[in-house]
Amino acid sequence: MIFCAATNNQGKLKELRRILERAGHTVKSLRELGVTLDPEETGTTFAENARIKAEAFCKATGLATVADDSGLCVDALNGAPGVYSARYAGVHGDDDANNRKLLDAMQDIPADKRAARFVSAVCLMLPDGRELTVEGECPGTVAFGLTGENGFGYDPLFVPDCVGLPDGSTAPNTVRRSYAELADGEKDAISHRGRAMERLEQALPAFLGE
Ligand code: IMP
Repeated sequence: MIFCAATNNQGKLKELRRILERAGHTVKSLRELGVTLDPEETGTTFAENARIKAEAFCKATGLATVADDSGLCVDALNGAPGVYSARYAGVHGDDDANNRKLLDAMQDIPADKRAARFVSAVCLMLPDGRELTVEGECPGTVAFGLTGENGFGYDPLFVPDCVGLPDGSTAPNTVRRSYAELADGEKDAISHRGRAMERLEQALPAFLGE
């Protein structure tokens, strides 16, 4: 299937592309499609925002469109930054500022109270109006400092409870590596986005009436 990946976030695009291509799909980016659109994310839930983006880009491209809305929900911060993860420090997509703000907000929080989870809502919108939304989550903790060079966003601060293994299974993250220290497959197998996309893949045949 050919999907438009409805995101202006290059880190997210890279992940959506590799997950969908691994499943045998073709992915067209907004740049490849020549679409420049920045729909306002006015929803109060990940699912609402994913739908807003999927609908806007599906209309603009005429292609089956996949949009992810995601973020980090920290227990000690009552779920913040949550749906505001991209603009936590004020400027949309300023990863460094967001990470600094999160570290500051968490500086007095002890190790046993740093639980958090990444959440991803993925909406698939078809040009005929049919839509499907799935969600995935990844539990973990917020680290005391940045580690790792891979990925994007809060990756250097998030320590998932589990990591993916080459055989497709998962194992406890005993050495406490951050998302940014994981190889692509290790992250995709346990990540919020990977899990949401896995659910999408499972639901796709019934959704398409195949
Ligand atoms: P969105 O484009 O409104 O969904 O913004 C999602 C924001 O959440 C991103 O800008 C990142 O800050 C953060 N985020 C979502 N997924 C990830 C991830 O896999 N790793 C790190 N940060 C993420």
